[in-house]
Amino acid sequence: MATLVLKPGSDRRLRSGHPWVYRTEIADLKGDWSAGEAVSVVDAHGHFLGRGFYNPRPAIACRLLTRRDEPVDGAFFLRRLRAALGYRQAASLIAEAYRLCWSEADGLPGLVVDRYGPASVIQPLTLGMERALPWITEALGRLFPRGPICRVDDPTAARIEGFEPRREGGMEVMVVEGECRFTVSLGAGQKTGLYLDQRDNRRIVAALAPGRRVLDAFCYMGAFACQALKAGAGEALLLDSSAEALAGARRNLALNGLEARAELRQGNAFDELRALESRRQRFGLVVLDPPPFTRRKEAVEAAARGYKEINLRGLRLLEPGGVLATFSCSHHVPPALFEDICREAAGDAGIAVRVLGRLGQSRDHPVLLTVPESRYLTGLVLEIV
Ligand code: SAH
Repeated sequence: MATLVLKPGSDRRLRSGHPWVYRTEIADLKGDWSAGEAVSVVDAHGHFLGRGFYNPRPAIACRLLTRRDEPVDGAFFLRRLRAALGYRQAASLIAEAYRLCWSEADGLPGLVVDRYGPASVIQPLTLGMERALPWITEALGRLFPRGPICRVDDPTAARIEGFEPRREGGMEVMVVEGECRFTVSLGAGQKTGLYLDQRDNRRIVAALAPGRRVLDAFCYMGAFACQALKAGAGEALLLDSSAEALAGARRNLALNGLEARAELRQGNAFDELRALESRRQRFGLVVLDPPPFTRRKEAVEAAARGYKEINLRGLRLLEPGGVLATFSCSHHVPPALFEDICREAAGDAGIAVRVLGRLGQSRDHPVLLTVPESRYLTGLVLEIV
């Protein structure tokens, strides 16, 4: 196994509990190596720090998998995935659809595994994890002996890491989430099928929905709207720019017998929110769950302008006593910044709101304190006073 030698001082992040090594922090790579294989990482004095998969192509060239002197092999993956399952069992997070493995937060940086009914969906986010798929598949086969396994690569990660993105074993499953049923096309659409990170928040928001008219902006497959309607919302308007997402939303509404109380509209939310306002449409509950407005640190300011604009418009669409449930899933926008943005939006709109709740990602997407990037979803529930 090759040895990756860090530059002096470049061991600081690793020693603080963060697993990443940037390409620019590497002094030397000793021995034979091949991209995607495990290397030992040592500091400038040769002290062992751990092992991780190495890839010279991306900016993050290595993510530590272990800090022990142990082989990274099939048995290692089985231990890690079993621990991930154990945490979720102990915390009562096992549902029909849940995240089994959340990358760094489960000690397997670069690997996402979601469970949908009997199926496991693997998403490798690094070349090392792509190469390790046979071990991962075998470990999953041990933990869940009968279920099918699909692979849903993220094209952006595959491009950055230098592997051919694949989607294998696509299938349709139906899963129950709370009071609703959702059809999920594994291997098609966004994420691994559903936005599982919003599961807890859908329940929290649905509890506020009874009797209200709901706007579900950036609705994807309509999960927020379905839960809100099922909980007793009067009617819902679902908005998304993707025809495919709306087709899925229509199917989910019908599956739950909710289509008569729902209207779907395709369009750019920025324009549609403005149009709704000028037509004097008002709602008792507005949900804003946009895609990340930035994936880069340098673009945070532009992203903040986007978040401010939709939140300003969302607030203006509320009727007296109305509730706004608003989210950001850009990990470059931490909760404090998101709160600042929403504060400015409320100030500009001249609307006083009470904070009913501060939200994060569902607990099957754990957050490691020493890895701030593991927390990316933040949300606020605001009520007009
Ligand atoms: N709330 C959903 C997840 C939303 S994901 C859930 O709980 O499952 C974000 C959605 O925003 C995607 O479906 C995407 O198609 C949509 N989207 C992206 N940009 C948009 C825009 N400018 N206007 C409207 N929808 C947009």
